[in-house]
Amino acid sequence: MIDVREIVEGAKRENRDLFEHEAKAIVRQYGIPVTKVGLAADEGMAVELAEEIGYPVVLKIVSPDVVHKSDLGGVVVELRNEKEVLDAYGTILKNIKKNKPSARITGILVQEYAPKGVEVIIGLIRDPQFGPTVMFGLGGVFVEVFKDVTFRVAPLSKLDAEEMINEIRGKPLLFGYRGGESVDVGGLREALIRAGQIGLENREISEMDLNPVMAYRRGIKVVDARIMLE
Ligand code: ADP
Ligand code: MG
Repeated sequence: MIDVREIVEGAKRENRDLFEHEAKAIVRQYGIPVTKVGLAADEGMAVELAEEIGYPVVLKIVSPDVVHKSDLGGVVVELRNEKEVLDAYGTILKNIKKNKPSARITGILVQEYAPKGVEVIIGLIRDPQFGPTVMFGLGGVFVEVFKDVTFRVAPLSKLDAEEMINEIRGKPLLFGYRGGESVDVGGLREALIRAGQIGLENREISEMDLNPVMAYRRGIKVVDARIMLE
């Protein structure tokens, strides 16, 4: 059992938003499935964590000064053995030093590789009038280019969550486009409801961004999580 309060207080003291592994710990506490993660302080520890988690793994930069990790070369996916982990570890440090020399480096996050699914986004914002509000959409260009997203004010009923999933224009991608299989709509619905709960129960959280979340035929998995504080 993790202590949400402790994580939030720690980050506040350091005047930063939550690290990915901290955000995922909170998200997991609310019953939303996330990748296994571990924070490595050196290369040896990264290899140990990879073995514990099981290959393939993903390595990511952890820094209070890096928000969009992949933009700076801070994410390497699908590492299949010790050598690839060691190489990726070096590559990430080199990329960050080159692309943002001023960034402080807290460590390297080792995590489970989530196979491709339908990528969706679950967000939480705090509306000045309505309070915690959940956002849902399809990942990548669907959000960035088409703005195909939908919102509901928390707490979300089952029907609210169901409607969100059904009202995005990209809906066919979730329900088995061209004879494909439908994704786990029940799992998505539950995650949307719980995202609203996170907003209602944690006033210090101003914003949350689960992007992407992989949706599978059975189950879903949060691959990246950001939580911003007031
Ligand atoms: P950021 O959004 O900060 O650039 P992400 O953690 O979202 O970094 O990683 C960038 C991309 O790498 C993701 O959109 C996803 O496609 C892929 N990715 C990240 N983590 C994983 C993972 N654990 N399993 C599979 N793919 C991943
Ligand atoms: Mg991301």
